[in-house]
Amino acid sequence: MSDVANLRDAVPLAGTGVRLASALHANLTAPALVAHSLRKGEGRLSAEGAIIVRTGVHTGRSTGDKFVVDEPGSTGDVWWGKVNQKLPEAKFAVLKSRVQAYLQGRELFTQDLYAGADPANRISVRLVTTGAWQALFARNMFIRPKASELAGFVPDYVILHAPEFEADPSIDGVNSSSAIVLSFTEKMIVIAGTQYAGEIKKSIFTVMNWILPPRGVLPMHCSANIGKNEDSALFFGLSGTGKTTLSSDPERRLIGDDEHGWGPDGVFNFEGGCYAKVIDLSQESEPEIWAASHRFGTVLENVVADPHGRLDLTDKTYTENTRACYPVEFIPNVELSGRGATPKNAVMLTADAFGVLPPIARLNPAQAMYHFLSGYTARVAGTEKGLGSEPQATFSTCFGSPFLPRHPQVYGKLLQALIKEHGASCWLVNTGWTGGGYGVGKRMSIAHTRALLRAALAGELDGVAYRTDPFFGLEIPEHVAGVPDEVLDPRTSWADKDEYDKAASGLVKRFEDNFATFADLVDDEVKAAAIRAVA
Ligand code: ATP
Ligand code: MN
Repeated sequence: MSDVANLRDAVPLAGTGVRLASALHANLTAPALVAHSLRKGEGRLSAEGAIIVRTGVHTGRSTGDKFVVDEPGSTGDVWWGKVNQKLPEAKFAVLKSRVQAYLQGRELFTQDLYAGADPANRISVRLVTTGAWQALFARNMFIRPKASELAGFVPDYVILHAPEFEADPSIDGVNSSSAIVLSFTEKMIVIAGTQYAGEIKKSIFTVMNWILPPRGVLPMHCSANIGKNEDSALFFGLSGTGKTTLSSDPERRLIGDDEHGWGPDGVFNFEGGCYAKVIDLSQESEPEIWAASHRFGTVLENVVADPHGRLDLTDKTYTENTRACYPVEFIPNVELSGRGATPKNAVMLTADAFGVLPPIARLNPAQAMYHFLSGYTARVAGTEKGLGSEPQATFSTCFGSPFLPRHPQVYGKLLQALIKEHGASCWLVNTGWTGGGYGVGKRMSIAHTRALLRAALAGELDGVAYRTDPFFGLEIPEHVAGVPDEVLDPRTSWADKDEYDKAASGLVKRFEDNFATFADLVDDEVKAAAIRAVA
């Protein structure tokens, strides 16, 4: 009997609809996956032993290619639209069968992993892929079961991952050769025609965003860490605003850098790994992430290296969205349980390219809701296909609209209730521009942002003097140790005050226009709270 025949109906393929592999590599650990990856020519090693891979044409998520299957059991609860495009059940059946047939008989890698550090709120995920490095990515990124847990592993969700399969819009009903399709009824995700591994991560995030709200748990696009007094803090924010950078902190244990749940038992990480931007990474201001990016077991996406494998983290040849993916334990100061007490502080990060918002402001609960539903930032570098390198104001509700399968209101109401119940202090932090907008001013220094956060989380800003900004009604502390006063007040930081006023009015207008869609959905307090623009 041949090896191939022996692999027919192998247990690691159960639930995938794929019956046969020419070679099957189930739950391999990092060194074995690295070895396969090198043997297959998928990547090469950096001087320090990290595996460097290229993701091809897709160097970020392909948002226009994401679909949710339109199914009777879920259709009424899905937030249909640009984020969640409908794919008819019949079309999904076609795509799924074609991908299963494509995978059948190939060399396959499977990984059985968890999402959700809280055992009461976790899902088991089985990934089947043709890519050794994508299997390693998933293994680094999600929660690795103990050997005893692997024995009886039954997947809740299955991911069919075929990065080199080309979908066909005329057959599969999708938009291009790439497709990311989620079925909440079949509990299956099909990812085809894209090598970018972030699709695996964010598909599972979407599933958690689907599953948890009915259980009274709020899924959040935020990082989290925990202080010596067991005080947890959350850092919400869109891509590039500093979730990963600021949650790695020598004085606070990292819970996770991107996705968490907040329920009756506190906060918990969905993941077991980090996915850090490494473009222009500085060893001095981000020493933990720098170290994690320079060691064996880490996956480096689209990073440039010389023939000796020495990294050039400033090189944007392939993309500005260069990334390092590593298990959380590569960060020295980590909370290995992935869990923390109910958060004492919630920080909303924004990278304001207009240079208008203050580096830190205290938010009352209604303002917190307003900013949560607005989800403002201004991007300079793209992590999504089609986004150029010019800055662009973005409103992405709940700081993560691409990952929300339910209506934003669902998440907004949950957050409002949690903040009310637990009395968390809320902050708005601008990690973007100061002294002028993009092109005139400069990016806020990481040292200043860290000093502001340290003071806020330590409770040092509770009893100090605040002034109220006339544009957004934000409360801005007058003095914070370690940060010059003129940095605290954005208007003072600008050379031309008239220009500041113009830019601020322009930003207020953008906020108001954006919020119009939510105005009828929120209570009067939230409506009234946010903006007190000068007439
Ligand atoms: P994603 O959701 O895509 O993972 P993120 O919110 O985790 O994004 P980071 O990976 O932390 O974002 O990226 C923040 C980037 O901005 C880093 O490259 C960091 O070096 C840079 N940066 C510059 N100034 C600051 C600042 N003041 N605070 C935080 N980050 C800053
Ligand atoms: Mn991040």
